[in-house]
Parts: sequence; C-alpha cells; structure tokens
Amino acid sequence: MDKQQERASSETKVTETKAERHKQRQKKLKAGVDAKIAAAQEEKGILLVLTGNGKGKSTSGFGTIARAVGHGQRAAVVQFIKGNWECGERNLLEQAGVKFYVMASGFTWETQDKQQDTAAAEAAWQQAEQLLSDDSVDCVMLDELTYMLSYHYLDVDRVINALNNRPKMQHVIITGRACHRAVLDIADTVSEVLAVKHAFDNGVKAQVGFDY
Ligand code: ATP
Ligand code: MG
Repeated sequence: MDKQQERASSETKVTETKAERHKQRQKKLKAGVDAKIAAAQEEKGILLVLTGNGKGKSTSGFGTIARAVGHGQRAAVVQFIKGNWECGERNLLEQAGVKFYVMASGFTWETQDKQQDTAAAEAAWQQAEQLLSDDSVDCVMLDELTYMLSYHYLDVDRVINALNNRPKMQHVIITGRACHRAVLDIADTVSEVLAVKHAFDNGVKAQVGFDY
C-alpha cells in the first residue's frame, strides 16, 4: 500500500466509525421517541395558546382550523378585534362552513367609550360561551381574546370557567399578545412567537393577502 492508498483507507475508516456512531445515536433517539409515543395514550380536547409579540399567531390558529376542516370536523371562530377588518382566512373558511363571529364594529382600542367596548366584548364572549358548551363543535378559535382580559373587558374567572367546562374532546385556540397567567396555567400547549424582526418596522405597510 503506498502513502496515498494508506490515507484513503484511514479516511474510509473514519467515515465508517462516524456513520456507525450516527446510527447508534439515531437508534437511541428513536427508542426515546417511541417510548414517548407509547406513553402518550390520552385523548382529549387541547387548549392551545398562541402568544408573543411576533407575527404568526392568528395565521397559525387559522391553519389549525383549516386542518380540522380538512378532516371533516366542525370549527368556529370568534374574533375579538376591531370590526370591519378584512380577513382573508374568513373569506375562505366561511366557504368551507366555518362560522365566524366578529365583535361589534363600534369597539375601539383607545377605550374612549369603555361602556360600549365592554358591551361589545360581552356580546362576543356570549357567542364564545355558546360554542364552548356545544359538543358538536370540534374546534373553537378565540382570536385576540387575550386583550379582552388585559383591558378588563371580560372577567378572567368567567373565561377560565367556560374553558374548563367545555366538552371533553373540544379543541380551543386562543391568540393574542400578553396572555393572562391564569389562561396559560390551564392551557395544554403554549407557543410564544418571538419578534426577531418585522417589515413594518422598516416602513412596509400591511400587505393584503399576506398580513390580513
Ligand atoms: P398574523 O395575523 O399575521 O398571524 P399575529 O396574529 O401574530 O399576525 P397580531 O398582533 O394579531 O399578530 O397583528 C395582526 C397584524 O399586525 C398583522 O397584519 C401582522 O402582520 C401585524 N404584526 C404582527 N406582529 C407584528 C409586529 N411585531 N410588528 C408589527 N406588526 C405586526
Ligand atoms: Mg392576530
């Protein structure tokens, strides 16, 4: 064996050892994942909270609604937002049979009329309560609900109570920034979207079909 052949042979050995080590690592990893899959036996409706300051909370929630509808399930959305906002997902999902309830358009974030805002939140929440007691609805999205709690438009105990007493198999998605601790505590899954950067900060307007 000349020098070149020796080098090639030892390089092959190194590659083989690396491949074997990788194989062992993957085997161990698979055993761990398989054990977790085997242990996860419970079936229940999941309470998902999508919070944080980054973009992607509502779009993620609507994606989950689309997933449910794609399986022939029944879904509904209550939007706790300023009214009259165009919503691309609504235009599409309503055609697929998803019921949308949007808070009355008089609502303002500026709270110039606290009484009117509270009434609007209350009416939207009553729709939510109805959905949360209807076991024919598989998935309920409460879009931007978190603000109703941070602005004290809704009583947190009442919200928690309705969430806790909903049908066992019903999934719920709550979106919005700064979610109340009591809601996080009873949630099954919480994801926080981190704002690393946003086009708006560089002067880009909200783009139709992309931002709403
Ligand atoms: P999306 O509906 O795009 O998933 P979101 O639900 O995470 O966004 P919201 O706080 O509900 O975010 O804001 C809705 C609108 O504000 C969207 O048009 C979104 O692009 C924009 N937005 C979201 N995050 C930011 C941010 N960090 N800075 C500026 N604008 C944002
Ligand atoms: Mg949103």
